[in-house]
Amino acid sequence: MNLERHRAQQFELTVTDLKQWAYCTRIPYYHHVMPVEIARTYKMQRGRDVEAAVEAMEKRRGFRRYGLECGERRFGVWLHSATLGLSGKLDLLIITEDACYPVDFKDTEGGVRYNHRVQLAAYALLVEENLARPVPIAFVYLVPSRQLVTVPVGVKEREAVTRAVVAMRQVIEQEKMPGPTPVRARCTACEFRNYCADIW
Ligand code: SF4
Repeated sequence: MNLERHRAQQFELTVTDLKQWAYCTRIPYYHHVMPVEIARTYKMQRGRDVEAAVEAMEKRRGFRRYGLECGERRFGVWLHSATLGLSGKLDLLIITEDACYPVDFKDTEGGVRYNHRVQLAAYALLVEENLARPVPIAFVYLVPSRQLVTVPVGVKEREAVTRAVVAMRQVIEQEKMPGPTPVRARCTACEFRNYCADIW
């Protein structure tokens, strides 16, 4: 690993980092401070397949389910915030005359979780900075149940994003490994479990 190159890159964070930070603060540490090899899993491949299927289905639908009369759909939108030093690729962005609505597809049975909410709030901030239009709410489309869930992106959620960005930068700059998640059930299916010798 070229350490100089790594140090030069480490300050650009992604929305995926944020989502993972909300899940377990150690995961972005592994990615940025001591990058480790992760095998491309079946779940990752399935995620891409599901994304393509939902995109094809979504193109045939109207906007009523979003509570909107009309709009423009953009799929796979790359966004960057110079303010936060944060970037990410949004599954779907709906643009109307006076607002924008981020939509994220989730192939999960467990409903919308806290880390998903943080992720959507981050997309809201990125969209507002890039498109200069307000984001009043966002949506998660739960693929297995075909359920569309409205996700608030208010002050509380936005503050959670900025707090997490600051804390994550500190961990990366100081190269200090955070403690493990207190929710140990998450460790069983974690791609980094082999590196967390202290939890077993
Ligand atoms: S194994 Fe557990 S503590 Fe270690 S990174 Fe994964 S979720 Fe976090």
